[in-house]
Amino acid sequence: MEYRRLGKSGLQLSALSLGSWLTIGERNSDSIAEELMTVAYEKGINFFDSAESYANGKSEMVMGNILKKKQWQRDTYIVSSKAFFGSGGELPTQKGLHRKHLVEACNGALKRLQLDYLDLFFCHRPDKQTPIEETVWTMHNLIVQGKILYWGTSEWSAQEITEAHMVAQRYHLIGPVMEQPQYNMLVRHRVEVEYNQLYKTVGLGTTVWSPLASGVLSGKYNDGFPTDARLGGEGLDWLKERSFAEGNIPRAKKLATLSKELGMSMPVLALAWCLKNPNVSTVILGASKVEQLRENLKSIEAQTQLTAEVMEKIESVLDNKLKQPQF
Ligand code: NDP
Repeated sequence: MEYRRLGKSGLQLSALSLGSWLTIGERNSDSIAEELMTVAYEKGINFFDSAESYANGKSEMVMGNILKKKQWQRDTYIVSSKAFFGSGGELPTQKGLHRKHLVEACNGALKRLQLDYLDLFFCHRPDKQTPIEETVWTMHNLIVQGKILYWGTSEWSAQEITEAHMVAQRYHLIGPVMEQPQYNMLVRHRVEVEYNQLYKTVGLGTTVWSPLASGVLSGKYNDGFPTDARLGGEGLDWLKERSFAEGNIPRAKKLATLSKELGMSMPVLALAWCLKNPNVSTVILGASKVEQLRENLKSIEAQTQLTAEVMEKIESVLDNKLKQPQF
């Protein structure tokens, strides 16, 4: 395994990490979840990603039971949670980034995960109803109280992240260290363009999600719709629609040809491509089967095969390279 610093912080995350959305606490049995976490840990993955909203809190409960059962030393792994969407309640007090919900979400996650502290705590989306000062003060205080170690954001704009840093500087508080954006061969703008200055100015770290675009970049939808695949899941029509956006399947088909030429599987190619970006601190894997996880782990070694020449070939297949703004 390779380890990378989380932005300018001293914390080192495994370059591949394991997520739990739609795979731990739902759609999979608890025994598969345990096998996934065990294989991940034994292969050097040190970061497990979760959120209050995943399976309405059940994901964290299952993860917490596994962590307790495995008895891995607490100083050998990193666990996150995220707050904003709530864990099932629909009342205004039960969601958002106001002080009440952030404190309750943190306490709730600690209870479900059966942990004394969270390593990473994310604001899962920006909250237009709460002043940024209130959110920054609350996250700072959770750090001071020892309940969380680092805080960050997920799908915030560069401007929103900058505002949080300005507030932190104004009041001498601890600002956000990391952002959790979507990043894959089909969704590139935030990580490659929008946050570009933030890597230099505030030393932003990134824990990127959906590296296989929910499975589209594994090639499994290239020849039709396999049964039991994620995008056929109940209640996931919105995700199917987004994942099958125009151009995605034709690109995936071209990538399939290229991956054959390179002698690596499509998921390994797509994951290694994400890893090649030095501003990515960790790529969060999603896996519904242990064999998928084992395959995906090969992407660490596959990075060496992605030479400048191969990266150029990939660019021409993707045909979606973004222009950096000229200052
Ligand atoms: P991916 O885009 O990698 O999708 C994972 C899915 O792709 C798997 O569940 C599986 O689906 C399929 N897959 C994975 N590997 C293979 C393989 N080798 N061969 C064939 N199919 C494969 O990642 P996720 O969308 O799961 O995101 C990863 C993590 O990121 C989440 O678990 C979560 O922790 C985090 N996340 C954060 C978000 C945020 O807003 N902050 C939003 C979304 C995710 P199947 O077999 O079921 O078809």
